[in-house]
Amino acid sequence: MPDVAVIGSGPNGLAAAVTMARAGLRVHVYEAADTPGGGLRTTELIEPGHLHDVCSAVHPMVLASPFFREFELSRRIRLAVPEVSYGTPLDGGRAALAYRSLERTAAGLGRDGPAYRRLMAPLVQRTEGITEFTLNQLLRIPKDPVAATVFGLRTLEQGSRLWGARFREDLAPALLTGVAAHAVARLPALTAAGAGLMLGVLGHTGGWPIPEGGSAAIARAMVADIEAHGGVVETGARIQSLSELPPVQATLLDVAPPGLLRLAEGRFPARYRRALEAFRFGNAACKVDFILSGPVPWAAPGLADAGTVHVGGPRAETAEAENLVAAGRHPERPYVLVSQPSRFDAGRAPAGRHILWTYCHVPAGSTVDMGEAVTAQLERFAPGFRDLVLRCKVTTAAGLADYNENYVGGDFGAGLMDLRGLVRRPVLSPVPWRTPLRGVYLCSSSTPPGPGVTGMPGFQAAKYALKDIFGLPVPGLGR
Ligand SMILES: Cc1cc2nc3c(=O)[nH]c(=O)nc-3n(C[C@H](O)[C@H](O)[C@H](O)COP(=O)(O)OP(=O)(O)OC[C@H]3O[C@@H](n4cnc5c(N)ncnc54)[C@H](O)[C@@H]3O)c2cc1C
Repeated sequence: MPDVAVIGSGPNGLAAAVTMARAGLRVHVYEAADTPGGGLRTTELIEPGHLHDVCSAVHPMVLASPFFREFELSRRIRLAVPEVSYGTPLDGGRAALAYRSLERTAAGLGRDGPAYRRLMAPLVQRTEGITEFTLNQLLRIPKDPVAATVFGLRTLEQGSRLWGARFREDLAPALLTGVAAHAVARLPALTAAGAGLMLGVLGHTGGWPIPEGGSAAIARAMVADIEAHGGVVETGARIQSLSELPPVQATLLDVAPPGLLRLAEGRFPARYRRALEAFRFGNAACKVDFILSGPVPWAAPGLADAGTVHVGGPRAETAEAENLVAAGRHPERPYVLVSQPSRFDAGRAPAGRHILWTYCHVPAGSTVDMGEAVTAQLERFAPGFRDLVLRCKVTTAAGLADYNENYVGGDFGAGLMDLRGLVRRPVLSPVPWRTPLRGVYLCSSSTPPGPGVTGMPGFQAAKYALKDIFGLPVPGLGR
């Protein structure tokens, strides 16, 4: 009989399970799908021999997240870290490139190089303090208040109409907007600026790694650790109600608020239930995966060496595309996130072939196939791209919602990330992982610090469960 049940095996469910199993408890993970991992799955999506990441592909946060650092992920799996973390192409064969070296990045940004360096250097110097602040619950006193203040001031600047004040040319603004637009928000916006600056800082420090073999390698390492500590990960096991579970002492739920309400079957007090019912989801993604007969023929030199490419054109154009999505429309020229894993991990495609992972933002619940719009954007900045496409598979936002019930309407953030969504995640509380039912914790990215493969929501929920229910300290997680 297990002591602990974990429902859902995304990175957060697995992080919770690793922590609880390491504390000496008997853990059973129940996963609805046929393979573990949630957003960490890699499959032969289109043809045998070509390994595509179904959801997450690039992992800036695994080198910075307190959970993954404790877990020593980089000693358990091989991470390819491109020298160019990300880049943004502009018309005329130009591109802004974010190298791991801040100096080299600034040197490529023309007259705005010094201004970019002045924006980023104080953040890069305080990376530890900034990740401690951003990868935790926001409603608390940060460990490094100076880092948090410097970060806050720059977020205010880049999240407002002042965002262009320090720049005179188009490269640096395009670079910053490309990374801020990850946030799926109207631009400029504070949450997008914060996310962009944090990801930008990581791009200039540890880099933006790509796991060899795909993101599933991260899930495999976590499952192996759970099993090595006596835990069980059961797949094909969708739990409909908490009452189906054996009589465990603690339950950690890697689900979104609608899933939490379904599992609790009316057992929550009215106030908490109403808060969960009012939880808001954001806009969504349409995923487009390609098999190519060669590498992407980027017009701009340097982009071939970038792990990630943000294809949206200059700042104003990316902002316009994102603002159309925020208004419920599908842009003709969308902002496209591109990862080119087979450039850095040869095992992902047969010799001579490449895979390309892309998605663009679309309104929630969209059933629109953005395959042609994404292809046209790539052709614009990489002439000849279209001729290299051998196969393509589109997963609409509605398809993503069917794939994983946490992505309500195709919102892969499992909850809107505006300021309110950041602090009320899912409720306004110093310990939002606790639910009113004793022993029941929410551990998905619908809790702080939110989306991305950080393991932190699961780690935090597990820490409170260990303390509240078992009176146990947080165990060591290293190899
Ligand atoms: C297209 C796309 C691209 C992305 N790219 C990146 C990226 O490059 N880098 C990055 O860091 N992040 C990326 N993300 C986001 C990242 O994948 C998520 O933030 C992360 O996976 C959330 O982890 P989680 O553990 O909270 O939930 P999930 O990974 O969503 O896992 C939840 C799991 O719980 C299971 N489950 C739910 N309900 C039940 C139930 N009742 N019974 C049993 N099982 C249940 C689900 O089947 C699922 O497996 C991307 C997401 C998408 C969709």
